[in-house]
Amino acid sequence: MNMPANPAQPSGRAAPPNVPAPPASDAAARPGTAPAGPSGPDSRLGIVHLYPTLMGTYGDAGNVAVLRHRAAGRGIGVEIVTVGPGDPVPALGDLYVIGGGEDHGQVVAARLLRQSGALAAAVTRGAAVFAVCAGLQVIGTDFEVAGGAIEPGLGLLDARTRRREPRAVGEVLADPDPALGLDFLTGYENHGGGTELGDGARPLARLRERPGGGHTGIGNGAGGPAGDGTEGAYAGHVLGTYLHGPVLARNPGLADLLLAWAAGRDLAPFAAPYVPELRAERAAYVTAGTLSPAAFDPAVPS
Ligand code: GLN
Repeated sequence: MNMPANPAQPSGRAAPPNVPAPPASDAAARPGTAPAGPSGPDSRLGIVHLYPTLMGTYGDAGNVAVLRHRAAGRGIGVEIVTVGPGDPVPALGDLYVIGGGEDHGQVVAARLLRQSGALAAAVTRGAAVFAVCAGLQVIGTDFEVAGGAIEPGLGLLDARTRRREPRAVGEVLADPDPALGLDFLTGYENHGGGTELGDGARPLARLRERPGGGHTGIGNGAGGPAGDGTEGAYAGHVLGTYLHGPVLARNPGLADLLLAWAAGRDLAPFAAPYVPELRAERAAYVTAGTLSPAAFDPAVPS
């Protein structure tokens, strides 16, 4: 992978926050004929972090740090390009990551990405996409923001978002589609939009049932107050979730699935200390509604 890096600081061509400027020519981000994926002349995995200044609520930027850490644990180098408003979107990424955001920020991001066309072209080429909350709404067909305006999305997922009442806020516990081979998902949701899936997308996960009735979270579904019992969506290697946390720190199996999609191969096992205990503690808390101090022993191994 050989992606030109964007400047760390916003350049003179950065768009004002409420008027998306046309991005600089994305041709500048196409380094000739280098093949996509980590098998090209530069074998590093290309991760494109889209608009963290607009889309990065509740620690979502940590997802990229987790991807880098878990790739390094397998000896896989990564090249991370951070894209700000006005920067070109690299065309040759292996994995594109976009976080959650406020309604206004996600409208700006959606317009910039539609104008660019680079993300849609990358998906057509086979690149993977990971989108959180507002990011999920942006990569869907269209989304409604507070006040009722409906904004077109990128159409990378067959999913449309309308308002829901009340806002969905709280901890979530969900069991992923068995086809994905993942353990349970834990995370935190906070959204006023609710997403309905069409036939072209599958739910990422089903919310766990509470012992006393109801679900552990809200997840997908518009209107309200109840959700439709599912959480997130995926189609091919495009995946979106409502979970923050950051979600990949709380669910390393999901991080590994994305890395495997991007790398085009299975990954060696990689254990992270304390993660199983923390996940078990969180699941117990969400199910029972109380913290069990005994569930996690924070003793540091000598
Ligand atoms: N602005 C969107 C909503 O409220 C997404 C929020 C978020 O990303 N946390 O639905």
